Amino acid sequence: MLYQRSSQLFQEAKKYIPGGVNSPVRAFSAVGGDPIFIKEAKGAYMYDEDGKKYIDYINSWGPMILGHAHQPVIDAVIEKTKKGTSFGTPTEVETQIAKLATQMVPNIDQIRMVNSGTEACMSAVRLARGFTGKDKIIKFAGCYHGHSDSFLIQAGSGAVTFGTPNSPGVTKGTAQDTLLANFNDLKNVEELIKANPNEIACIILEPIAGNMGCIPPQEGFLEGLRELCDQNDILLIFDEVMTGFRQAEGGVQQRLNVSADIVAFGKVIGGGLPVGAFAARKEIMNHLAPLGPVYQAGTLSGNPLAMAAGLAMLTELHENPEIFKSIDEKTVYLKEGLDKVLSKNGVTYTINQIGSMISVHFSETPVVDFETAALGNNEYFKKFFHGMLEEGIYIAPSSFETWFISEALSYDDLDKTIAAADKITAGW
Ligand code: PLP
Repeated sequence: MLYQRSSQLFQEAKKYIPGGVNSPVRAFSAVGGDPIFIKEAKGAYMYDEDGKKYIDYINSWGPMILGHAHQPVIDAVIEKTKKGTSFGTPTEVETQIAKLATQMVPNIDQIRMVNSGTEACMSAVRLARGFTGKDKIIKFAGCYHGHSDSFLIQAGSGAVTFGTPNSPGVTKGTAQDTLLANFNDLKNVEELIKANPNEIACIILEPIAGNMGCIPPQEGFLEGLRELCDQNDILLIFDEVMTGFRQAEGGVQQRLNVSADIVAFGKVIGGGLPVGAFAARKEIMNHLAPLGPVYQAGTLSGNPLAMAAGLAMLTELHENPEIFKSIDEKTVYLKEGLDKVLSKNGVTYTINQIGSMISVHFSETPVVDFETAALGNNEYFKKFFHGMLEEGIYIAPSSFETWFISEALSYDDLDKTIAAADKITAGW
């Protein structure tokens, strides 16, 4: 029976793991129902514990840009594993991936490896504070930078205000140092800077937002932030955890030609193993321990298996840059196909797409920030999600998430996805 074993496994998991999951979005809370337990995956497909096959649009939330169980990555990990899994000493592979990453991405001389995107963003902000000697940061509503305290802040009332925590456990003191702005709203950022003169260490953002659906920056937004940062001695941090090594070899900096001071990475850089990283020019990175006073460390940072997986992944992307064009074209094909069937079926919707990131919103209002992303009709999204799941199409279980296109997807897979969307929404 459909999902039977998954549901049994979920009941068992809930006894020993809070909510049955190790990361909340996996619990299907936003769409209802029990989550699917995946047994294995290869290329564009995942197979659940009941034997059902899915065309995958989550791709482990981004890392699997070349599809699941990609052979060069698997081979690299197996070979490394045979030689020991962790030493807590420097290893050659760390320098190899650092060298390659700094060649691929503009404006960075050095890179430090960590174990997650959360750590990367948290460390990037500490470095920015240490470098500038200032405490406050500006982040944008709806941008997610992991679960470190400074980022779990929601808007207080009024535009120019201190943030307030939106998770118990985040102290008011921490929240006070995080100022909240609206994505794509330069004026709002300008006001915050004016109201907090010489106090802001950095502005951190997803240069293409992917955690409120996919929201591209409007023309001039990133350039305007760059200018404001330069005028006010503020560091600009691009959180490229989703977009790095995906939107282009050199990420959004390269794709949209705007330079950041510090860049955070995750997802693709680890090839599916737990890796994050942050990078900047030497002058900034020199402030990190052991060279400088800003402390940052990790027992498993630069782990040989993770580095081998990441190196295999980046090498393939670097040697075959046509992959970026190919996934972009597949995503445009998907967008055009979905556009056709959703409008034919009279559905109220907006599709946002840039590069290999795409999101479907059940609202006609252009989705440009968190407020407009929240206008989507969640009842329609739930129906769409569960319908697609039954048709064997696995999209993210929340309307605030982006779909990630992998190179493993064939045009036949895309056609099946479009046909499934047609079938589900016919008669809406
Ligand atoms: N930054 C962005 C843009 C993300 O999308 C995520 C996770 O989805 C993170 C940071 C946090 O990364 P991690 O989940 O690896 O801690």
